Amino acid sequence: MNVRLIVPAAGMGLRLGLAQPKALVLCGGKPLLVRTLERFQPLGLLPGAIITVPPGTQTDFEALLGDAFPDTAFFLVDGGRERQESVENALETIDNAAEIVVIHDAARPFISQTSVQASIDAAEEFGAATVAIPCSDTILVAGADDILADTPDRSCLWACQTPQTFRVDVIRQAHQHARAQCFAATDDATLVRQMGGTVKLVMGSPFNFKVTTPEDLMLAEAIIAKGFV
Ligand code: C5P
Repeated sequence: MNVRLIVPAAGMGLRLGLAQPKALVLCGGKPLLVRTLERFQPLGLLPGAIITVPPGTQTDFEALLGDAFPDTAFFLVDGGRERQESVENALETIDNAAEIVVIHDAARPFISQTSVQASIDAAEEFGAATVAIPCSDTILVAGADDILADTPDRSCLWACQTPQTFRVDVIRQAHQHARAQCFAATDDATLVRQMGGTVKLVMGSPFNFKVTTPEDLMLAEAIIAKGFV
């Protein structure tokens, strides 16, 4: 099947406390986006990959990508205010030959090729798949004034990761449906479920965490220094 890659990278890294796009932040001496894209190189998914960037930053991203991947053409697309809008913009530019789309956060630099391939296989079979990991922590639902409102059964809770991988027709329809219903979500698989579609959960890894806070960045740098991935 014809597989395309979308990398949402338009976040501004406010929770990192930085005044620059998070994807450009140096992590072990390399921009986060470059580290993340390198994970997809062996799978042949970089040529033609669509990357969403903060509006007004295309020149910076072009320079960075030209240095890191001089022989690879990428499509840069302006991101929206929320991740959902960024992905919607990226989906609009996907070519007609694409059958499967892999959507992976720029902020998750340690994705394994095994998980990416498993998500592609599952999307071919089920139409939609997300990488995720079973929750090891007990999850608490807070009510008003941080009073414990509920403790869901941990045995059926998974923490969502990316990539989320879809048949192109399925994810396009899910975004259109979400827009029509004014439904917002922080990931794409939830949009498929919300329109009644099937989403297969595929095993991820604790290493595939999202670099969000300064502590996450420290952890990522420690992992790189240890040569774990
Ligand atoms: O905000 P969050 O950490 O959930 O973002 C996940 C990914 O989505 C990041 O790689 C970020 O750059 C991207 N993003 C985006 N457009 C936005 C917000 C986030 O492409 N408006």
